[in-house]
Amino acid sequence: MGRVYNFSAGPAVLPEEVLKEAAAEMLDYQGSGQSVMEMSHRSKVFDKIIKDAEQDLRDLLNIPDNYKVLFLQGGAHLQFAMIPMNLMKNKVADYIVTGQWAKRAFKEAQKFGDAKCIASSEDKTFSYIPDCSDLPIDDNADYVYICENNTIYGTKFKTLPNTKGKDLVADVSSCFLSEPMDVSKYAVIYGGAQKNIGPAGVVIAIIREDLITEDVLPGTPTMLQYKTHADNDSLYNTPPCYGIYICGKVFKWLKKQGGLAAMKEYNEKKAAILYDFLDQSKLFKGTVEKNSRSLMNVPFVTGDADLDAKFIKAATEAGFVNLKGHRSVGGMRASIYNAMPIEGVEKLVAFMKKFEAENA
Ligand SMILES: *Cc1c(COP(=O)(O)O)cnc(C)c1O
Repeated sequence: MGRVYNFSAGPAVLPEEVLKEAAAEMLDYQGSGQSVMEMSHRSKVFDKIIKDAEQDLRDLLNIPDNYKVLFLQGGAHLQFAMIPMNLMKNKVADYIVTGQWAKRAFKEAQKFGDAKCIASSEDKTFSYIPDCSDLPIDDNADYVYICENNTIYGTKFKTLPNTKGKDLVADVSSCFLSEPMDVSKYAVIYGGAQKNIGPAGVVIAIIREDLITEDVLPGTPTMLQYKTHADNDSLYNTPPCYGIYICGKVFKWLKKQGGLAAMKEYNEKKAAILYDFLDQSKLFKGTVEKNSRSLMNVPFVTGDADLDAKFIKAATEAGFVNLKGHRSVGGMRASIYNAMPIEGVEKLVAFMKKFEAENA
C-alpha cells in the first residue's frame, strides 16, 4: 500500500520530502557516522541543527530580536501551567474560552490565581469566535489568553482581541506557520509541534524577553521556569533532539515553498476547495460560522450519525484516513495542514461528491 491522504488533527501529515531526507540520513547524518537519535545534544553537529532550526524559524516568522525562541517538552498541556507559573505576577489573568483547549488552559490557570473567563462561545458549541473588541479586561490582568485556532471546532481568530494594553498569550498549536503573523503583537506564542510542524514531543515557545525573569510563582520547579531554558539556549537538559531536527527540516521546506505568505495563499486555496463544496452540498454541511472558519481544521456533518459513520468507513477504504471528528463533537473533520497537498483536498472533494450522489 502506498501513502494515504492523512487528515489527522495531530500527530499529522508531514512533507514527504522531509521524511525522505530523514530516511536517507537515518544511519549516517551528514558524514557523522551516527543517527541524529544517537548523538550527544552537546555535540557540534547537534549544536548546528538546533541553531539552524532557530534561525530558520526566526526568518520565517520575522521574530524580533527581543523575543526568545525555546524548544520545550511536555506538550501544549504543560504550557497551560507554565504560563501562569511564569507570568501571573499579580495573580490575575483573563481567558477567552473558544474551545476545549482554551478551557483546559483556563481551568489549569485557576490553580495558580484568579483566572477569569471574559468571553466564551460555548453557548453554540464553540462554533464561532466571539466579538473581542471591547471585553471587560481586568486592570490587574497579567495577560489575556487565547487559543488562536481551535483544532477541535475549526474556528480561528481573524482579528486579535483588543487586550487594552495587556500582554497577549496565544496557543497557536494548530495554525503555527500556516500564515504570517506579527510576533510583536504577542507576549507569548506557543504551540505543540505535532499539528503543523513536526513530530510530537516538541513544543516551541516564542517569548518577549522582559517576561523571562526569576520572579515566578513560589515553588515553580526549575524545569518549568522559562528562564532556565532561555539562559541555556534550550539545552539545560537533554532536549527532544530528533524532533527538533525534523522541525528544522520542515522550516527549511517552508522556506523553499516561498515562506509563510506563499503558504497562506496555498492554504487559502486548499481550504476554499473544501468550503465551497460544503456550501453547495445537499448532504454535507460545515459546522462553523463563515467568518470564523479555520484554514487548517474543517469540521462537517451529514446530520445523521449512521451516515457519518458510513462515510468515514468508505473514505478510509479509499485512502482518506483520520476523518473522524473529535470524540467530543462527532461528525467529520478534515485537518488540512501545510503538508497536505492540494491534490489531497481535490480528491477528497471528488470522493465526497460521489458519496453524495450515491447516498442522495
Ligand atoms: C492538540 C492541541 C493541544 C494539546 O496538545 P498536547 O501536545 O497534546 O498537549 C492544545 N492546544 C491546541 C490548539 C491543540 O491543537
